[in-house]
Amino acid sequence: MTREAKLLQNFREVQTALAAACNQAERRLQEVTLLAVTKYAQDADVLFFLKQGLIKHVGESRVQQAFSRWTKDEFSAFPTVKHLIGHLQHNKAAKAARLFDFIDSLDDLETAQLVNRHVPAGKILRGLVQVKLTNRDTQSGLPLEKARELTLQLRRLDHLKVCGYMAIAPQGATANELKMLFTTIKQAFDEDFPQGGERYLSLGMSEDFTIAIKAGSTLPRIGSKLFA
Ligand SMILES: *Cc1c(COP(=O)(O)O)cnc(C)c1O
Repeated sequence: MTREAKLLQNFREVQTALAAACNQAERRLQEVTLLAVTKYAQDADVLFFLKQGLIKHVGESRVQQAFSRWTKDEFSAFPTVKHLIGHLQHNKAAKAARLFDFIDSLDDLETAQLVNRHVPAGKILRGLVQVKLTNRDTQSGLPLEKARELTLQLRRLDHLKVCGYMAIAPQGATANELKMLFTTIKQAFDEDFPQGGERYLSLGMSEDFTIAIKAGSTLPRIGSKLFA
């Protein structure tokens, strides 16, 4: 099989699984946007999907690496929606504000304020607040109640529009535990971001997106399943 055939097969498998999960949850597939996580992908593979018109939302976890890739002419020629999904350091806030369309990993007010100050004129940057689902210190994000408080504070920023939550599943959680954790976030999401507004709930990665879709995710982040 050629590399391109393999990538097409990966894409079809992801699409089929997303459609099946939507079907089981009685949701419409159009409610779900695939966020293609390109952080470990080869340039050639990303360009293939872009040329085929199969991916539009792309996620990177490091500002510098994202900058090197997405400012190249061959990449910037494609209309993409670029998401930062990794932790944002203070000293990268200005660069991130220029490059990205979404910061999906907001978890502190100061950094968000700094980002807000550096959004270029005329641009509205979208932001998601990252909810932390474990007590482990290694994960970024905030416990749900703190994330909700931060959401309220971020609503005062004028160039950064907060429009949802993102969370990463804890390692080793069972399907039932995940379902409960995701469902708890989904309830808070529905209260804090009522239907009708622009809203995104980013739950689920390659290994758990089916559970996440059933719990209401609208923006699953899929890397390894697409680029395997
Ligand atoms: C890397 C990464 C992903 C993609 O993970 P896969 O298991 O490769 O699909 C999703 N979300 C975040 C925050 C990541 O860092």
